[in-house]
Amino acid sequence: MPVAALVALGRDGVSPNVGQSGPAVVAAVDPDSGGAAPAPAGGAGGSFAVPQPAHATASAMAIGGNAARTRTAADDSRGAGLGVPACQHVVSVRPVRAMVLEQAGAPLVAADRPVPEPGSGQVRLRVRACAVCRTDLHLRDGELDAPLPRVLGHQIVGEAEDGRRLGVAWLAWTDGTCRFCRSGRENLCPEARFTGRDVDGGFAEWTVADERFCLALPDDLPDLQLAPLLCGGLIGYRALGFTGDAERLGLYGFGSSAHQIAQVAVWQGRRVFAFTRPGDEAAMALAREVGAEWAGGSDEPPPEPLDAAIVFAPVGPLVPVALRALDRGGTVVCAGIHMSDIPSLPYHDLWRERSIRSVANLTRRDGEELLALAPRVAVRTRVTEYPLEEAERALADLRAGAFKGSAVLVP
Ligand SMILES: [Zn+2]
Ligand SMILES: [Zn+2]
Repeated sequence: MPVAALVALGRDGVSPNVGQSGPAVVAAVDPDSGGAAPAPAGGAGGSFAVPQPAHATASAMAIGGNAARTRTAADDSRGAGLGVPACQHVVSVRPVRAMVLEQAGAPLVAADRPVPEPGSGQVRLRVRACAVCRTDLHLRDGELDAPLPRVLGHQIVGEAEDGRRLGVAWLAWTDGTCRFCRSGRENLCPEARFTGRDVDGGFAEWTVADERFCLALPDDLPDLQLAPLLCGGLIGYRALGFTGDAERLGLYGFGSSAHQIAQVAVWQGRRVFAFTRPGDEAAMALAREVGAEWAGGSDEPPPEPLDAAIVFAPVGPLVPVALRALDRGGTVVCAGIHMSDIPSLPYHDLWRERSIRSVANLTRRDGEELLALAPRVAVRTRVTEYPLEEAERALADLRAGAFKGSAVLVP
């Protein structure tokens, strides 16, 4: 497509699809879930090649099958449409189950807790689904700090007591008064609190959230499709915005975020080039399935120079690799919250107005834009479903790259 056509594809996220002819496919991307490229043990980064565990199970296609439970059409339609039953204001008096991080580096612990009481401005939500993010894994493994004990999970599809279905994402609260908040950059608020890190999240049957930070959810997407959009999709969407009008887009680490945002990018008329762990044929197949015109190992050069690249994998050595894949004037966007060290690089690789930048958190506006766009793009997220009590196994599978796409916990 002509680059001029891409100029219209700004952050509004709803610009018409200029170049697409095939069926629309849209996925939400979780930047933290560059599942195709888990960091080596210890989080030291380095090799992009991590062996598949023996128990790795190929997910069934599309929104379907998984190692944890066989999905059905009825499952897929759950929560879609307007038929979300009102909760009748029934709040269980029995304790609610939560999976709690009590100690970094140790497995999550199942705990029975009182039903959480909403504070001023908060809404109480019954958790219908909560997706698993690489950030949850970083917190679990102690690569990111959190006040403990903590209930992780920041991609929550919840049901309020009045029956509304609401989304809770990573941004839990901001002060609203600092220069960042006042300039449309609440994602950078120094006082910001984050769901599942500073306040309890959605690896539980019930949670509470500041209602001002809850996102209205489109009626026509089921719970299991919406949950991974709420961070994977969102961070990917924010990262995609920083690629400007790039037509040839490289995605490094093809996990939850990448397989969702690839669909948005293709719908926008961009050309997607997917980089997975070398030899990860399943991830390459998923990439082609969601519209990538080329998929290969991260040790391979793209067939032609890229205009931009998004690095979802938390692997610093991929940054100079992505930089070298760029045409002049191109940008590398680092989408993760945590990454191993970036090796030194010759200035020549950066010269000619190439740039490297990061993406931090998200704004409510990002959420509103993506949730308006997702049904139009018809993002299809490949989901592996786990029972809430198996949160630790879902995290282990994410660490090992044992599933493709996104993992979602269902209480
Ligand atoms: Zn602020
Ligand atoms: Zn996340």
